[in-house]
Amino acid sequence: MIVGGSDRKKSLPFALFSFATFLVALSYFAIHKTDFPDSVRWSYAFGVLIPTFLLSWIYNYTSKSVNVWKKVAIYVTGLMLFVLPFAGGLLISGINKDARSGFIEVTGPLYPAYIAFYIIVYGVVLIRLIEVFRNRPKERKQTRLILTGFGIYGALGILFGLILPFFGYDRLTDLDIPSSVIFVGFTSYAIVQYRWMNVKVIAVQLLSALILGVALFEVFLANTPNQRFYKSAVFAVLSVLIYFLVKGVLSEVKRKEELQTMSDKLAQANDKLRKLDNAKSDFISIASHQLKNPLTAVKGYVSIALEGAYGKVEPELRDALGKVGNTTERLINLVDDLLNISRIESGRMEFTFGKWKLEDICQEVIDTLTLKAEEHKLSLEYTKPDTPLPEVTVDGAKVREVISNLVDNAIKYTPEGSVKLKLEQLNYNIRVTVSDTGIGIPQSELPYLFAKFSRGKDTGRLNASGTGLGLYVCKGMVENNGGKIWAESDGEKKGSVFVVELPINQNEELVKTGWGGSGSRSAL
Ligand code: ADP
Repeated sequence: MIVGGSDRKKSLPFALFSFATFLVALSYFAIHKTDFPDSVRWSYAFGVLIPTFLLSWIYNYTSKSVNVWKKVAIYVTGLMLFVLPFAGGLLISGINKDARSGFIEVTGPLYPAYIAFYIIVYGVVLIRLIEVFRNRPKERKQTRLILTGFGIYGALGILFGLILPFFGYDRLTDLDIPSSVIFVGFTSYAIVQYRWMNVKVIAVQLLSALILGVALFEVFLANTPNQRFYKSAVFAVLSVLIYFLVKGVLSEVKRKEELQTMSDKLAQANDKLRKLDNAKSDFISIASHQLKNPLTAVKGYVSIALEGAYGKVEPELRDALGKVGNTTERLINLVDDLLNISRIESGRMEFTFGKWKLEDICQEVIDTLTLKAEEHKLSLEYTKPDTPLPEVTVDGAKVREVISNLVDNAIKYTPEGSVKLKLEQLNYNIRVTVSDTGIGIPQSELPYLFAKFSRGKDTGRLNASGTGLGLYVCKGMVENNGGKIWAESDGEKKGSVFVVELPINQNEELVKTGWGGSGSRSAL
């Protein structure tokens, strides 16, 4: 869209302008081919519509907001000039019949005013178009087309209407005003070429105007009063029908325009959000890197100190150092989660795919967490399949992290009972199931479990330091390995089941480029 205001406002005067051109051509036809002397007056009346609509259109086209009074002034002047040819002998004092050129007018005293109106309007239009051409580089191409059309139209009008008759050649005089059809042609081309103004709207308006024009013309050509009455009735009915048709089309177009604007705005907002999201991920990534190094150093020193490298460690100091060690460990885990999230979200997480035996990965997890389960007085069971499972193409380290996280959660959220890890083949997938007899998950919380910072409402009691990031990271990792993860629970205090499914025969290339490759953004 070029200027403010809706397309429809801009296109209506243009359609009317084109229509007026058509009416003038029709009246010229009547001057030559019919026996209707007043066709001369009508040619003048219709002729004045051309500059009137042109002026109205040029204001709509070039001004951001069109002054209402200016418009009223244009139309009032146009209307006055429209009726002028019928007002006694002011503009046309007589009409003669010429065998060759049809009816010819004898001009009256106000003829110069009529011509002055043309000159002023065309001057204003020209200046406006040049202004637009200069000041709006974006619209230069279409303005150039319109200016060219206008230039040719003006030049032909002056040539046919003034210069040639001045030298006594008046056979082409009738083409002076209708040469505006050239302007219509150029402008229409600009409209279609640059998708400027709504082509459909203009087409509907033009077509309706044409139909009405022909119907109106029929009224003028009627020979008997009876015929005139009948044709006027047809014209009236057509006018009403077309009015509703155009109204319907216009409101449809308006709705579409509004929808388009809304979806454009949404797309922009979305784009902005994505950029913000990326900036946030970058920030978290940098901040986390800066945090992780010092934390790792603290953890290292604490562990060396606990081993007695800096002298004997009294029980009280051991206790304090142990707490520092645990807290630091938790912080490191949190930073790891944040780093993982920002990597997954920005598609920068590196995945190293290879053939892995999931039995081995699960065994490692069990070995690492058995002690923790014992500390919580829980039994940790591992059920392997009877026959060896096929290898899967995954990033083994990430899958280990996921399973470890699930078993760790199961231990954390199970006050008593057991935690079971089961590995099995189901059709073309390998399924890892971690089930526990713990606090369970209410149905209302299940859908949000894998969202960022999502924590159950009662979980704080059992695991005060949780962040609600672990499952979110797990989901990202599993999906980037081509798998699925979900949770099931019969409700509070009824235990929980977490399931991970990884496809056996997944295409290695697809996994590398489609899922794990940098730039891919997981749908989290
Ligand atoms: P965190 O454990 O740090 O809160 P997670 O993302 O690992 O974060 O888990 C999110 C939430 O899911 C937990 O706060 C808890 O409410 C629920 N949850 C996870 N695992 C279990 C489980 N085995 N039993 C019951 N609830 C669980």
